[in-house]
Amino acid sequence: MAKARTRYVCQNCGYVSASYVGRCPDCGGWNTLIEETVTTTSSTSTKSQPRQTVSGNQVRPQKMNAVTATRERRITTNLKELNRVLGGGVVPGSLILIGGDPGIGKSTLLLQVSGQLAAEHGTVLYVSGEESASQIKLRADRLGVAIRGCTFTPKPTCPPSSKPLMTCTPTLW
Ligand SMILES: [Zn+2]
Repeated sequence: MAKARTRYVCQNCGYVSASYVGRCPDCGGWNTLIEETVTTTSSTSTKSQPRQTVSGNQVRPQKMNAVTATRERRITTNLKELNRVLGGGVVPGSLILIGGDPGIGKSTLLLQVSGQLAAEHGTVLYVSGEESASQIKLRADRLGVAIRGCTFTPKPTCPPSSKPLMTCTPTLW
């Protein structure tokens, strides 16, 4: 049975609260929490079922001696230092969290990498929680980043894996 409930998510840092608070306890931002409705299915039918990943694959515990270790394919970027930090490049299907002080160059770095990967590997879906498509375009022009393969989605109101965002069938996002 599907059940809808409300939660509040900080648009700055992603902090989730069950009730509304005026100031985010995590990042300290004022009025940054926005109400979201989450639909959950009743757990009674799934309690004994194995956990599933987002893609629907079942997850079961494995004995380590039964695991075959394979070297992941890695997509290398133009930035040697980034490749080094990532252990040789981007592993397809992986999630990478890049942190740093405001203004340190996270967006610039990611836009440069997006432009390169789009040119070499296909469409890159660039989702921005802060900047408009126009601001991103201006930055790309300033940096001389060719963004032909990038699709921009500012202020997403749905999860990145949802249908509207995936219509551009990105290779990377
Ligand atoms: Zn916050």
